[in-house]
Amino acid sequence: MLKYRQGLADRPSYDMDTNEYRITLNANESTMNLPPIVEDRLMGRFASVAFNRYPGAEDYLSLTRQIAANFKVQPENILLGNGSSEIIEKLFYCFGGSKDAAIVYPQPSFSMYGIYAAAAEAKGVPVDLEPDYTLDLEKFVSAVIKNKARLCVICNPNNPTGTGFSVSDIQYIADNIPTSCAFLVDEAYVEFYGQSAVSLLKDYPNMIIARTFSKAYGLASARVGYSIASAAMTDMIGRSFMPYHMNTLSLVTADIVYQMRHEYVPRIQMVIAERKRLAEAVKQVPGFTVYPSETNFLLIHHEAAPALNEAFERQGIGVRSFGAAPRLTNCLRISMGTREENDTWLSVLRAFAEERA
Ligand SMILES: *Cc1c(COP(=O)(O)O)cnc(C)c1O
Repeated sequence: MLKYRQGLADRPSYDMDTNEYRITLNANESTMNLPPIVEDRLMGRFASVAFNRYPGAEDYLSLTRQIAANFKVQPENILLGNGSSEIIEKLFYCFGGSKDAAIVYPQPSFSMYGIYAAAAEAKGVPVDLEPDYTLDLEKFVSAVIKNKARLCVICNPNNPTGTGFSVSDIQYIADNIPTSCAFLVDEAYVEFYGQSAVSLLKDYPNMIIARTFSKAYGLASARVGYSIASAAMTDMIGRSFMPYHMNTLSLVTADIVYQMRHEYVPRIQMVIAERKRLAEAVKQVPGFTVYPSETNFLLIHHEAAPALNEAFERQGIGVRSFGAAPRLTNCLRISMGTREENDTWLSVLRAFAEERA
């Protein structure tokens, strides 16, 4: 018998959806590939990559400096990761390590928080969102205090509910938790919301903000994310990474995408407009609840959601179904596609409702 690490056998395998869809709206990706002008620059840049060399400091620093300049902070405040996932996982590792190391996060929220807490041998403490998926700030802060948490997490706006929390809510949490508790604000969808906690960082050295290139910048393939935090925290978290953890291809890709990020503004606006249009349209269909969303997806509820999911699948449309996950029963999460793709799933949804009427 191999003697694996304690808890590993209980850890779920990440269930990648292996179906091939005609319309893929299940992972909150961008439905569009690189803007052609970005692709041209990138292909040219790849020609000068030293494939034989370990990633150079210059490639890491070039992207780091750009991000730092954009947020008017120093490169010492920035960490890059293989997706923000790597940074989040490391953060849990850095504050975990014992049964009494509590990590507090809302539920329902990003399902990986609970998994990373278990992997870090920390004590995961989920705090239930209210029935409308808003957050009771008092309840969250008390959970942090009562459990003497070392880390707490807010996903803003929240995946998979779509809920946006105000900057003053984030500040309320920061003001009321002990300064000995690290506070991660996961801003994976912030570009679709526009309200960021970045302005708070200078006043809260225990706060860290995680961002990603995977969603608004359509770069999920490259796995690039970053964090912004105090230099002291950045230094400590940075120690947990392996050498050369960022590969050159992803670094140069994200570097060019970030230089050309204005190219993405119309796309982000299109996604927001589509989200609003589809939310209104689905609300008109009897039997559906649409939760307010500040992201690139909608969470919808219908008492026969599994049957609707099957109808989508029969039409080659992939959305995210949550099975019996706590508080997400009969919910489907649909990432925004192009206008045409959205019209396609909307017509399947309407036909489904008519058949049941
Ligand atoms: C998608 C997502 C991430 C990060 O994705 P990466 O591709 O690893 O950068 C982080 N948090 C939430 C809530 C997400 O939905």
